[in-house]
Order: sequence, then C-alpha cells, then structure tokens
Amino acid sequence: MTGSLTIVGLGPGSPELMTPAASSALCQATDLVGYATYLARVPIVEGQTRHASDNRVELDRARHALALASEGRRVVVVSSGDPGVFAMAAAVFEAIESGEAAWRALDVRVEPGVTAMLAAAALAGAPLGGDFCAISLSDNLKSWDTIERRLQAAATADFVIALYNPASQSRPHQLTRTFELLRQWKAGSTIVLFVRAAGSTDARLNITTLAEASAAAADMRTMVIIGSSTTRLITREGAIPSVYTPRSEISRP
Ligand code: SAH
Repeated sequence: MTGSLTIVGLGPGSPELMTPAASSALCQATDLVGYATYLARVPIVEGQTRHASDNRVELDRARHALALASEGRRVVVVSSGDPGVFAMAAAVFEAIESGEAAWRALDVRVEPGVTAMLAAAALAGAPLGGDFCAISLSDNLKSWDTIERRLQAAATADFVIALYNPASQSRPHQLTRTFELLRQWKAGSTIVLFVRAAGSTDARLNITTLAEASAAAADMRTMVIIGSSTTRLITREGAIPSVYTPRSEISRP
C-alpha cells in the first residue's frame, strides 16, 4: 500500500466552517498528527491512531508524519484555520526538501481551510475590501528587525494589515511596540479591530482606533486588523457597527 500525507485546515473553530473536503480527508485517515488542542476538534473515528504533539516542534512533527506515510499509512496532519498560513504545510514541505529521497515520491496534498483573518474580517463586515497583507508578530522564526521593516513597508504603502500571533507569553511587548511604530505613519483615527475566537460560538469583536488601541486587548486567540486610510465604520441602529474598506480608491468627479 502506498502511503499518503494530507495537511488539513480545520478552519477557525466552528464545525460549520470546516470544508467537506477537510472532513472527508479526516474520515479516511489511518493516523492523525497535530497539536493536541487541534486534534481535540476532530470527531473520533474508530480505528484511527492519534499522535498528539507539542506546538513548538513543527519540523519534528512533519518528519514524524512523513515517516508514518512512508510506512504506508494514510496520514493527516491537522492545522487550525488554513494549513498554509503560518502553519504546518510549509513545515511539511521543508521536511520533504531536506529529508529522505523516498519522501518526494509520497502522495502529498494540502486541504485548505478558512483562515482566522477571513473569519475575523467577516465578523466585522468587509475590512479586507481593498489591498491587504498579513504579518505574523511571532519572532520565533524570524528576527524582530524583519517584522519592524515589514510593518513600516505595509503601513507606508497603506495596506490593511492583518496581524497573526499578536501576543505571546514570552514576549508580551510586541504588540505595544507595533502600535507605537504604526502611530508614526498612520493617523490616530485609523480603525483597529480586535477579534477573539473568530468563527466560533464565543467570537468577540472590539472596534477601536489606532490612538486608543491597547495591546492588553489581545491574546493568543486574537486577530488584530488595522485599517487602511479608507477603512471606515457605519453605525447601525440596534446593531454593532460594520467596518469596511471600499473597493474603489479612485475619486470620481
Ligand atoms: N493557520 C492558522 C494561523 C496560525 S497562527 C490560520 O490560518 O488561522 C496562530 C494565530 O492565528 C493566533 O495567535 C491568532 O492570532 C490567530 N488565530 C487563530 N485562530 C483564531 C481565531 N479563531 N480567532 C482569532 N484569531 C485566531
């Protein structure tokens, strides 16, 4: 039997936001590999083996999954959101590139998922209506200098900026520093969104401005979206305001 490896995105939280293709890959697996918190979101299928591992050892986990697949198992590696966005899919390809020659012959597929940025944006309205970019504030895998350079480039190019990993226990000051930097280039009135647990039943949206934004509003399950100069808010009677970025940046006569 030829083994296979599918890297599956579970979506941001609620089962309704998992794609049917992801569910079907999960059902067909003989082995599931991933962080215990994500595996806990996968319905139990009898006869499947679960390999839970710590979140910090992505490359080891990828190698373990590839070794199982080369023994002929149908392996699924799970990620939250989309597996290609700051997650396991790139780690698997990195492991293939630097690993055993036989791993290149394996049937490897990526099954996309709804990434946190999209679930968070949908809750607020349409803040990603214009050009946007995504930056991870985690400096585990890149230097803080690189992050600051990208923040400046994104801010001065007037992108909407979606921040993944805004807070970490080891470095709680990253988001405070990010807001300080962005205030140099962007207006204090720029809309800032904090969305916690987007795409799940306990999702929470907090709308503020860059002048008022405080890092204390974010934790590891929060997505921060910083508007462009055209991102705006519509107040609506009896409902939370809607935030959107107009499609058009052309001023018409
Ligand atoms: N692959 C994931 C992202 C992994 S990085 C995806 O595509 O969504 C982890 C970061 O994603 C978290 O620190 C947080 O910033 C964000 N995140 C993940 N799930 C989230 C959710 N349900 N709501 C808000 N942010 C979330």
